[in-house]
Amino acid sequence: LIQLFRPLDMLGMVYRTVRQGLIDMAEMFRLIDTETEVKDAPAAPALVVRQPTVVFDDVHFGYEPDREILHGLSFEVPAGKHVAIVGPSGAGKSTIGRLLFRFYDPWQGRILIDGQDIAQVTQASLRESIGIVPQDSVLFNDTIGYNIAYGRGGASREAVVAAAADASIMPFIERLPDGLDTEVGERGLKLSGGEKQRVAIARTLVKNPPILLLDEATSALDSRTEQEILATLHRVSEDRTTLAIAHRLSTIADADRILVLDQGRLAESGTHAELLQARGLYAEMWARQQAERSD
Ligand code: ATP
Repeated sequence: LIQLFRPLDMLGMVYRTVRQGLIDMAEMFRLIDTETEVKDAPAAPALVVRQPTVVFDDVHFGYEPDREILHGLSFEVPAGKHVAIVGPSGAGKSTIGRLLFRFYDPWQGRILIDGQDIAQVTQASLRESIGIVPQDSVLFNDTIGYNIAYGRGGASREAVVAAAADASIMPFIERLPDGLDTEVGERGLKLSGGEKQRVAIARTLVKNPPILLLDEATSALDSRTEQEILATLHRVSEDRTTLAIAHRLSTIADADRILVLDQGRLAESGTHAELLQARGLYAEMWARQQAERSD
């Protein structure tokens, strides 16, 4: 009976959070048989990732036919590099993440991973290769081990422990009465924002994806916890191609490249130092956020 109700339980929780952006879209696709707008091409091959380079090539996209949101966006995230996207609210940052995960197809232009058009490969293989660390994760009413293993169906206990250790949540789990078998969520232990975030990171790591999509992964945390989580994310994204969508600039100042998006167009790009020197939109946003911080 529990097996029967578990999907319903999850569905409720997923439903409550679906609207918040990139939140656990992989889970949502897996759980709900939605009529999505995108379909696999007939006899589509699987995505094969050797050099996980991500390319947006002249991408035009809008949610409604008469309102284009991205106006011919082109950029590259070289394999293993860390690129951050910043920009004012409504600029289209989260939209880029949704397109990369192929929640929608571009109106025009292409998105390539390792030279393959993501619209031409199976959605399952695409989503397998991208790990999302969302703003706020869905935790299921189940054990902490189950919540981590959920990143990859059939993950072994060893893989779960390794991912938990990598996400620096193992010391916390070891202190729990039943370790990995401790129940969490509405029926069990309540986790703090930072602990939830680490479970989400472990869940992503258990997939071992070559590409990471970080959606302002630390927004709901106090500054000390935020610093600790950032250090963990920094470590786990070292060998992975990483696209970070950020609202606060302090979290991405060390990115290899920062793209500044404004009203669906690339306004500027460069390193933190280069952008400060350019005295453009980024420098303005940086000055504003520094002033807010000191207040
Ligand atoms: P924020 O920093 O506020 O999160 P953002 O840069 O991530 O903003 P997006 O969420 O990508 O911006 O939204 C870009 C534009 O697309 C906005 O004008 C938004 O209103 C619109 N938009 C986003 N999602 C949808 C949707 N599902 N249907 C229609 N319009 C949408």
